[in-house]
Amino acid sequence: MPSRIDLHTHTTASDGTLTPVELFDKAAGLDMQVLALSDHDSTAGYDALVPLQSTHPTLRLIPAIELSAGGEFACHLLGYFINTSDKAFQNHLSLLREKRVERLQIMARQLDRLGFPVEWSRVVALAHGGSLGRPHLADAMMEKGYVKSRQEAFDRFLKRDGPAYTSESEPAAQDSIGSIRKAGGIPVLAHPSYYTSESLLKNLVQAGLMGIEAYYPEHSRSLTQHYIEFARDLGLVVTGGSDFHGPGTGRSALGSVTVPEAVVESLEKLKNSL
Ligand code: AMP
Ligand code: ZN
Ligand code: FE
Ligand code: FE
Repeated sequence: MPSRIDLHTHTTASDGTLTPVELFDKAAGLDMQVLALSDHDSTAGYDALVPLQSTHPTLRLIPAIELSAGGEFACHLLGYFINTSDKAFQNHLSLLREKRVERLQIMARQLDRLGFPVEWSRVVALAHGGSLGRPHLADAMMEKGYVKSRQEAFDRFLKRDGPAYTSESEPAAQDSIGSIRKAGGIPVLAHPSYYTSESLLKNLVQAGLMGIEAYYPEHSRSLTQHYIEFARDLGLVVTGGSDFHGPGTGRSALGSVTVPEAVVESLEKLKNSL
């Protein structure tokens, strides 16, 4: 049985393959109760669904974002309950999307030098107007027949320290946390098991981090429990989700991670106390 709560999902507003409406319909079809759209650097998916919420009144939508932080404390930060009409936040997001274009163009040039040219116009077309990301470059490589899957493109070329990878011109984690909080959101460290830095969490908490994603596809039961206890000790909330990216991406299914209802209750309580 899929989880009735999924707080980490992507759509064509960034590097997911389902449109926001397709995702919303799919979640409703699974009889889900709570869905957070957490596209990379874009709230366009959530904003497009707001007028359609009454078509599935039992499915609650939560506005969210996933920001990439670079520098010493490189990580992904989720922001829950952000005010998507906050002008300063939207300006910040459009700047981040412009920086994505520059970064992906550099990576495309590196692929060219490595003997795997892709047409930039195809990369842009494959992003469907959404926030550009490495997965779109992977899709363009698949079209050319260089790789068979997004995963193969990452493993051979695009992963951090891969031959086509470019260090990201992303803001420091402290700044990303600040921008989420200024937009009324709750900053949460995404997929904590991806990071090895011992000092990362403590530094992020000092910078205003309020939560940690304990429930995640690659987290064993005991690792999840570890993060729950860790959060409790530091006074953080826990969140969770599948990091769904849609069919054809090789990623986890929607609702594939069980997220307890108490998680949403605690998030809401925290939001109401801000
Ligand atoms: P970008 O926003 O351009 O940095 O790309 C991030 C996206 O690529 C996210 O959807 C990640 O889940 C995905 N991603 C990052 N690293 C890997 C990897 N090693 N293998 C597969 N997907 C990855
Ligand atoms: Zn993604
Ligand atoms: Fe992420
Ligand atoms: Fe994600």
